Amino acid sequence: MNVLIVYAHLEATSFVAAMKNVAVEVLQGQGHTVVVSDLYGVGFNAAAEKYDFVSTTGEHFNYMNEQKHAATLQMSFAPDIVGEIQKLLAADVILFVAPVWWFSVPAIMKGWFDRVLAMGVAWDKGRLYETGLLRGKQAMMIMSAGGSHDSYRAEGKHRATPIQMLHPINHGTLAFCGMDVHEPFVSLSTKSVDDTERARQLEELKFRLTHLFDSPSWLIRYQ
Ligand SMILES: Cc1cc2nc3c(=O)[nH]c(=O)nc-3n(C[C@H](O)[C@H](O)[C@H](O)COP(=O)(O)OP(=O)(O)OC[C@H]3O[C@@H](n4cnc5c(N)ncnc54)[C@H](O)[C@@H]3O)c2cc1C
Repeated sequence: MNVLIVYAHLEATSFVAAMKNVAVEVLQGQGHTVVVSDLYGVGFNAAAEKYDFVSTTGEHFNYMNEQKHAATLQMSFAPDIVGEIQKLLAADVILFVAPVWWFSVPAIMKGWFDRVLAMGVAWDKGRLYETGLLRGKQAMMIMSAGGSHDSYRAEGKHRATPIQMLHPINHGTLAFCGMDVHEPFVSLSTKSVDDTERARQLEELKFRLTHLFDSPSWLIRYQ
């Protein structure tokens, strides 16, 4: 399998980096080809811009329409977008590894969604969910969060389980584009627990990834 890891953390000794390293180690160890897009490392541009396109329609600027136009013109997107699209299209599995920021992903990863999951590339008119253009690919969120197990319950302080919190991404983004979505792995209380508990969480992640293909935990799957 070809695995793409889209990774967003500023610090190489962070827990998120440790989770990314576990993913590389486990999946490479199983003989898969693993490519990492280190978004902060390459200074990925988070903001959608007019100059994301080599040529535009020349009409009223609508980012979505320009994406479709660029996709039709043999991927006439800016080079950084083309590079990520190539990695995306070559991948069978895409893992997104990042901390939870405001119930979501850091802006740099949201920017990857905005700019790379383009109309005409990842989805199209009438090509959503089970007919999305990324049908056949698998995706999984791997995240860390400051909040505790107790706070991440439907009736808890945050009024959401981790799966409920990540619904806009798992459903509204990844499944929207046609991908089969694995249940997310979310490390909770990441900063406040001790090293032993963090090491246990990494072992749990290792177990999930070791059995990613032979015993997957699906959240959304299109037959
Ligand atoms: C803008 C913003 C918004 C946020 N919004 C939310 C939110 O909506 N909900 C929420 O719950 N939280 C939120 N947070 C908190 C955030 O999710 C956590 O701070 C983050 O997930 C912690 O992960 P980290 O990798 O950055 O931690 P780090 O501080 O890098 O790591 C935590 C600890 O793990 C240690 N560690 C590193 N590697 C290992 C290893 N191999 N084994 C054991 N220990 C190791 C580190 O030394 C450190 O002590 C937000 C934070 C910010 C900045």
